[in-house]
Parts: sequence; C-alpha cells; structure tokens
Amino acid sequence: MAKVGYIEGDGIGHEIVPVTIEILEKLVPQIEFIPIEAGLDYMKKTGKNILIGEEALELAASCDAVLKGPTETPPGPRSPKSVVVTLRQALDLYANVRPFQYPEKIDVILVRENTEDLYKGIEYRISRGVAIGVRVITREGSQRIAEYAYEMASRMKRRKVTIIHKATVMKETCGLFRETCLEIASLYPEVETEEMHVDTAAMELVLNPKRFNVILTTNMFGDILSDLCAGIVGSIGLCPSANIGEKHAMFEAIHGSAPDIAGKGIANPAGIILAAALMLDHLGYTTQAKKLRDATLKVVTEKVKVTPDLGGNATTKEMAEEILRRIMDE
Ligand code: NAD
Repeated sequence: MAKVGYIEGDGIGHEIVPVTIEILEKLVPQIEFIPIEAGLDYMKKTGKNILIGEEALELAASCDAVLKGPTETPPGPRSPKSVVVTLRQALDLYANVRPFQYPEKIDVILVRENTEDLYKGIEYRISRGVAIGVRVITREGSQRIAEYAYEMASRMKRRKVTIIHKATVMKETCGLFRETCLEIASLYPEVETEEMHVDTAAMELVLNPKRFNVILTTNMFGDILSDLCAGIVGSIGLCPSANIGEKHAMFEAIHGSAPDIAGKGIANPAGIILAAALMLDHLGYTTQAKKLRDATLKVVTEKVKVTPDLGGNATTKEMAEEILRRIMDE
C-alpha cells in the first residue's frame, strides 16, 4: 500500500488540500494518507522558530510521496528556512518538473535543475559599490537532471527535448551544462534534441508555444521560463509542480497561500488537484492520474462550476465536487 503524506500548509491550503484528499480517497482507496504539519500556522501553534520540524521531515521521508499545500515564509533576516527549501534539501529533490497544459494553447513539460546555479546563494558585497554572485554548475548535477528529462521524454513518448542555455555568453557554466546534456541526449536517439538560447526561447514561447515539448534547463532560467509558461496557460491557479529525487518526491501547486482570499472558500483547487495527478503518475497509478487530469481540464476549459478567478461563481468545494462527479460518471 502506497503511503502519501500531505501538508495543508497555510491560507487557502486549508481549503484546497482537504477537497483534494477527499477526491483521492475515492479515486485511489489503496493509498494511505497521512497528515504532516508544517508552515506558518504550525510555527505559530508551536511557538518555535521553525516552519517544519524534525519529526515531520522524518515522516515525509518515510512516505512514498508528499502532497504539499502552499506555505508562508515570514520575511526578515532571522526568519526560518521555507518549507519547500527545507524539504528539497532534506529529501535531495534535484529535479523540478512543471507540466504546462491547456488545450489548444500549450503542452510543455519544463524540467529544471533544482539545487545549483545562482540559487546556491553564494554572494558577496566586496565593497560598498560592488556585489558579486557565484554561479555553480556541476557535471554531476547537469547529468542527473538531463538523465531525468530524457528518461521521462522517452517513457512518455514525448518527441523532442529543447536544451535551453546561453553558452555563447556563459561559456564555462552554461558550456558545462550544454555539453553534459548533449552527452546524455546521444544515449536517447528516439528523442529529438534541439538547443536554444534562453532569450530566443522566451520569445519563441510567447509566439509559438506549441513548438515546445520538453524543456531542459538550469535553475535560474527554469524559474523565469516557468512563470512565462504559467502566463501562457492563463492562470497561476492551474499549474502543478513536482520536486523529484532519487528516493523521494514532493508535489505542489505553484501558487502561494493567497492570503487575500483565504477563508472565503473561493480558491481554485485545480493546481493542487493537477499536482495530485502528477503524484499518481509518479506512484504508478497512471489510469487514475489520467482520469483526474482529464476531468480537471474539462471542468476548467468548459468553465462549468469554476471559481471566480476563472470567471465563475462556484466555491472551492463545488468545483472539486464537479471534478469528482466527472470522474465517477465516466
Ligand atoms: P500567491 O500565489 O499566494 O497569490 C498571488 C495572487 O494569485 C493573489 O491574488 C491570489 O489571490 C491569487 N491566487 C493564488 N492562488 C490562487 C488560487 N488557487 N485560486 C485563486 N486565486 C489564487 O502569491 P503571493 O501573494 O506572492 O504569496 C502569498 C504567500 O504565499 C507568501 O507568504 C509566499 O511566501 C507564499 N508562497 C508559497 C509558495 C509555496 O508554498 N510553494 C509559493 C509562492 C508563494
């Protein structure tokens, strides 16, 4: 029996996560769901200066996957490390995978390296007027993310991987990433490979998103391009994300805790439900994953019983019930 840990998190997390778990319990009764406490509400409750405790990390590590609601990180230099960063580091989740799907518009899976690059945070203020940052790219890091992207493309019968870099300017860092990715690409002749500079990719994504299939890129470029893709989809509320490691995996929606609408019961649950579909794929429940994804996209595109962000007047619960009804009616 698969074990899934779930974190409600903060704000709208208390609304969108429970309705998702209700759907999952009906769709995949063979999964055991275990609540894990983390986030700002947890920190306030315990009075400790941590957003996720050791016990929760151990519980997460003991599960086959974690479904995470949005969590808030208080600002300020003495604030604790965010739940996402803590989980990524503790569970070594090196691959960030974001499918952007909207019928007739876009169908791209963006695979982003999750641990290196400028996000290492190695920065110095060397004088009052000069700050420098260090960009770290390793062969090992590039290799495992490229292997993940090509393995996934091959398994999912995706026709093409686009390697995105700027090796003409960042000759060493992007150069190493590029050469490592191309080495891995040569092992997957069934998948077409193309290369593109990040600036061209940004323009091409806007003009012709359908030409992309799987994108493989570094941490910083991936971060920016994934928000561009979310813009093409049309709503941040519709985009899921997976964080994958050798042994562990964590799934979430890309939006935050939306404090402006929290408690009103009108948050769009589609992002976290689509994240749950990704999780089911990862756990091998591919039939149920497809049912969940298809039903969600149908409700979203037909705009029947959708939340106000999509132009409707349904509540979170009503939209989730409509998705479940579509699955059960099939
Ligand atoms: P946000 O994504 O929470 O909200 C941005 C806008 O999108 C708001 O107007 C909000 O109402 C709307 N929105 C977001 N999700 C929605 C949904 N499911 N349905 C309908 N509307 C939705 O971003 P923010 O306001 O910048 O951040 C709020 C908090 O969330 C911050 O504390 C931030 O740290 C946290 N955050 C967490 C994560 C995460 O846990 N992965 C990601 C981003 C932000």
